[in-house]
Amino acid sequence: MNSVLRPEFGPESPEGTTSILDRIGDTPLVTVEGVWAKLEFLNPSGSIKARIAKYIIERAEAEGKLQPGDTIVEASSGNTGNALSMVAAVKGYRMLVVQPQGISSERLAISRALGAEVMEVGDFHVNEALERARELGEAGGYFCPRQFASELNVEENRTWLGPEILQQLPEGRKPDAVVAGVGTGGTLVGLGQAFRAVNPDCLVIGVEPAESPTITTGAVERHQIEGISDGFIPEILQRHRNEVDYLVPVRSCEAVAEMRRIANQHGCFVGPSSGAHLLAAKALKRDHPELENVITLFCDGGEKYFSEHFLPMKEEV
Ligand code: PMP
Repeated sequence: MNSVLRPEFGPESPEGTTSILDRIGDTPLVTVEGVWAKLEFLNPSGSIKARIAKYIIERAEAEGKLQPGDTIVEASSGNTGNALSMVAAVKGYRMLVVQPQGISSERLAISRALGAEVMEVGDFHVNEALERARELGEAGGYFCPRQFASELNVEENRTWLGPEILQQLPEGRKPDAVVAGVGTGGTLVGLGQAFRAVNPDCLVIGVEPAESPTITTGAVERHQIEGISDGFIPEILQRHRNEVDYLVPVRSCEAVAEMRRIANQHGCFVGPSSGAHLLAAKALKRDHPELENVITLFCDGGEKYFSEHFLPMKEEV
């Protein structure tokens, strides 16, 4: 345990000091082929999930639900695990990530490097990990953020990520649509709420892997767009389903090809969900050229998928 990064007495940073957690957010909003892309992979811990990790943990601290010496436990397909591991490292909590087997080994290694214990439960989809994390979270001394259920996840996206995007759009412009995959649903629902507050007609469009369109058809299959479609309909989406206009399917192989193209042609080294997001956002613009400002997100970086998608390329060449 690193005593510099893990104060023994409580979660608050000593007055007058800053940490990596202060660098979360304020990511660039760039134009990519006619749509707006928020470069969330530039957050500390490498994904959009740094935001909810910080937000939910600091709220739990403020409400006394998380005490010095406690263990944070969460089910994650990887990015939230990485993000919470970072927050736990800085604030001095123990971290237990419960994640399915068969997801990218990079994300498991990153959580471990950040000092977390990683428990592998279930195969590919997050269902079993979710159950285990929930059970563990009920024990004394444990806190489970419950990212798939917590309204704080929606609240963060509505009050932090959403307003940040609104501020970055050129003056006078308002979002006409937001396009995002559904892991927890927090990003899509929270951004939808933030954007509809300034443009009630803003479209809110989800993205699902065509192989596993769980929300649309109930199907649960393996796919390659990690971080979305985790094998069940998250509670957040169940509660807010009526706020989502519709969901579009994107095939895994097309998302992966688009991910490679984004790196090649736009210099953004991103993961597969970013590929799926850009494809769906561009298709929307093609079908509805009247939608001026279509917002999407590049949620995580390609480094998290070296073993699956990038290093094997060497052999293909
Ligand atoms: N893309 C990636 C890479 C993710 O890790 C996640 C979150 N699991 C999402 C998209 C979807 O975000 P949300 O959980 O807010 O639906």
